[in-house]
Amino acid sequence: MKTKFTIGLLSIVFGLAFAPLSSAQDLGPHFKKVKDGIYVYAGVLNEANSTIILTQEGVVLIDTGQTPKDSHVVMAALKKLTSQPVRFIIHTEPHTDHILGDFIFSPPAIVIAHDGATASMKKAVTPESTEKRMAASPEMREAYKGFRLVTPHVEYRDKMALNVGERTFELYYLKNIHSEADTAIWMPKERIVFTAASVTVKRFGNHRPFVSIPDTLSGIKMMKALNPEVVIPGHGDPGTVKLLDEMEKYYNLLLERVGAMVKAGKSLDDIKKELKIPGTEDWEGKDRYPNNIEAAYRGVTGK
Ligand SMILES: [Zn+2]
Repeated sequence: MKTKFTIGLLSIVFGLAFAPLSSAQDLGPHFKKVKDGIYVYAGVLNEANSTIILTQEGVVLIDTGQTPKDSHVVMAALKKLTSQPVRFIIHTEPHTDHILGDFIFSPPAIVIAHDGATASMKKAVTPESTEKRMAASPEMREAYKGFRLVTPHVEYRDKMALNVGERTFELYYLKNIHSEADTAIWMPKERIVFTAASVTVKRFGNHRPFVSIPDTLSGIKMMKALNPEVVIPGHGDPGTVKLLDEMEKYYNLLLERVGAMVKAGKSLDDIKKELKIPGTEDWEGKDRYPNNIEAAYRGVTGK
């Protein structure tokens, strides 16, 4: 007992020096440590992120990765960091590139998402679509072993707070930014904000017909007002508030230019053909640019 106490005391005093496997390098090439106990798995270019957050009372995951293959990578990393289970999974959005690996952690993990997530997931995940995804490769089929769709145990509305161990998570609904159920997550003590799909990194977001650029700008403004130190987008590398600034600049410019062209009597088709937004030349996902213009057109004209 005495020895155990001494070791315990020593590890408190020299905690930093003795902390096992604290560097993200030990976890694999796609992991980035953003704060003590917080690791982002930012997979391959354009793929969805998954973030591991250690707490005194177990692990919280923000999304579970692009595919179940990624979720297994996250699970392996987790096992190197802690023997504690995943207590909660919080989803930034219900699309399949964020949620399909939940079955690997749940049970025991409790899944939380905004109202509307369950309906969205059930629509997208059918036996046929699952078979198609599994057929991508033998490794993918292996990663799907034991697959079942886990729908959220908790669906909140507008906002909620979750306290796990020493950490607090504030969840805010982001209206009309990308999916039927987008959530921004704010960790006030760590000053980290998870932006869901409101922010993209050198990539055009996919703007479905209900997406509103004015609403997206309100969401970005709300997140900037939190004064975050670290900004973690749904896809792409984590960064600083600059990520929010850049997105805000892009959307404002898009609205302004589309507005000017509408005023000049241009049709939506003309605008799609003629308008280029400076600074986006090297962005990915150019096939989505027309739907960005459509969203701006709706924002400007109300149509
Ligand atoms: Zn999505």
